[in-house]
Amino acid sequence: MRYVIIGSGVSGVAAIEAIRSLDKTGEIVMIGDDPHGFYSRPGLAYYLTGELHDKALFPRTADDYRRMNFRYLKGRVTRIARESRCLQLDGGASLSYDRLLIAVGAQATPLESPGADLEGVLKLDHLEDAKRILKHARRGRTAVVVGGGITALELVEGFVSRGMKVHYLLRGDRYWSNVLDEQESRIVERRLQEEGVKLHHHAEVVEVIGKKSRVAGVRLLDGRSLKCDLVAYAIGIRPRVELAKQAGLAVERGILVNEFLQTNDPDIFAAGDVAQVYDPASERSVLDSLWGPARQQGYTAGLNMAGRKTAYVKSVPFNVTRLAGLTTTIIGTVGRGRDDDLVGIARGDSETWRQLPDAMIAQTGFEVNRLRLLIGEKTLLGAVVMGDQKLSFPLEKIISEKVDISPIRERLLAPNAKVGELIAEFWAGRKE
Ligand SMILES: Cc1cc2nc3c(=O)[nH]c(=O)nc-3n(C[C@H](O)[C@H](O)[C@H](O)COP(=O)(O)OP(=O)(O)OC[C@H]3O[C@@H](n4cnc5c(N)ncnc54)[C@H](O)[C@@H]3O)c2cc1C
Repeated sequence: MRYVIIGSGVSGVAAIEAIRSLDKTGEIVMIGDDPHGFYSRPGLAYYLTGELHDKALFPRTADDYRRMNFRYLKGRVTRIARESRCLQLDGGASLSYDRLLIAVGAQATPLESPGADLEGVLKLDHLEDAKRILKHARRGRTAVVVGGGITALELVEGFVSRGMKVHYLLRGDRYWSNVLDEQESRIVERRLQEEGVKLHHHAEVVEVIGKKSRVAGVRLLDGRSLKCDLVAYAIGIRPRVELAKQAGLAVERGILVNEFLQTNDPDIFAAGDVAQVYDPASERSVLDSLWGPARQQGYTAGLNMAGRKTAYVKSVPFNVTRLAGLTTTIIGTVGRGRDDDLVGIARGDSETWRQLPDAMIAQTGFEVNRLRLLIGEKTLLGAVVMGDQKLSFPLEKIISEKVDISPIRERLLAPNAKVGELIAEFWAGRKE
C-alpha cells in the first residue's frame, strides 16, 4: 500500500502520524513545495516581532521524522491523474498512489489594485514571506497595512516592533467587526493608536504608486494619497483548490469532503485549510482555517486512509491570539452572524465564530480585562476573554462540554452582574 500526501503543513504531518499508528509497514510519501518543510505558521507573527528565532518555529526534530518513517519529496504536484492513480510533479517525475491526501492549505487572497506587482508589496503566507518582510522592514521607514483580521494586525505589530511608522487601513468602521463587538474593537484600536499606529477607517487602496518599480505610496478610494516604503496586505485567504478542480473532484469554496474527510473519489481525502468539511452536528459544510482543526482533520483523514473508519467530530472553536499586545481567547460562537462576512475567511479564523444563534450577551470588565459571554437557553455558546486569562480554561470546558448553566443564568443576565466572579464560583462549585 502506498499512501501519498500532498502538502507538508500540520494536516499532512498529522496524517502521517495517524497512518503510522495503524500501519507500520505501508509506504508513505509526502510531497511538499515549501523549501522550509513543516513549521508553525501561527509562530510567524512572533518571528516578525523578533520574539521567536526562526529555529523555534520547527516543532519536529529529525529524530521525530525518522520515527515516522516516510519519504519526503521536495517538489510541487502539478496534476492528479485519477484514471491512472498517478501524480505529476514539476520537473516531469510521476508517482503512483493507492490512497491520496490533498493537504495543500490556503493562500493569501491577492491584492488586485494596479501596482500590486511592485517591489515592496508583501503578504504573509510562508516563512519565506516573513523573511522577505524582515528584509524590507527598517527603522524609520513607513508601511501601509491593509486588512481587517488577525494576520493584518500581526503585520502591523511586526512593523511597529521594528521601529516603523504604520498606516493601518480598515475597509469598515472598526477592527474585525465580524468577530469582535464594538467595545473590543475599540480597545484594540486605542492600543494601536497608543503605539503610534495611524488608523484609517473606510479606507481602500485603489492604486499602489511606484517609483523605479518600487513602492512609493498608495492612492485611496477617497482620493487621498499616503507616502510609504512598503505595502503589506492580509485581506483573506483562498483554499488551494486548483489541483482538485482539475482532477474533477467536487469543490465549492474548498474541496468537499464527508465526515470521514473523503472526497467524491473514495481513494482521495482532503484535510486542513483546503477542505470544506461536513459537520454532522450542524449539518453544514464549513471551512475552518485554524491550526487545531487542520491537525485534527489531518489525523482523522490518516486513520481513515489506513482503514479505520473514524468520523471527524468538530471541536468547539478555540483560539488564543494576541491583539495589539492583549492576549485574547475566542471560544465557541461569538460573532455577529454570517451575513457580515465581508472579506471571506481571515487567517486564524473560523466560520463557526460567526454562526450566531439566538443568544443573549453578558459582559463585564474594563479596558484590558474584559469578558463577553454568549448565553443560550441552558448553556454558554461562546466567550471572548481579553487580558486576564484565568477564566479561559474553565470557559472552554463549560462551553465545549455544554454544561448546564441554569443555576447561574439569571444572575449572569442581571444588570451589572459580576460575570467573571459568577463563572469562577460556578466552576469552583463544580469541581468540589
Ligand atoms: C501568518 C499566519 C498566522 C496564523 N495564525 C493562526 C493562529 O493564531 N491560530 C490558528 O489556529 N491558526 C493560525 N493560522 C492558520 C494555520 O496556520 C492554518 O490553519 C494551518 O497551517 C493549516 O494547515 P494545513 O496543513 O491545512 O495547510 P498549510 O499549513 O498551508 O500547508 C500546506 C502546504 O502545502 C504546500 N503545497 C501547496 N500546494 C502544493 C503542491 N501543489 N504541491 C506540493 N505542496 C504544495 C504549501 O506550500 C504548504 O507547505 C495562521 C496562518 C498564518 C499564515
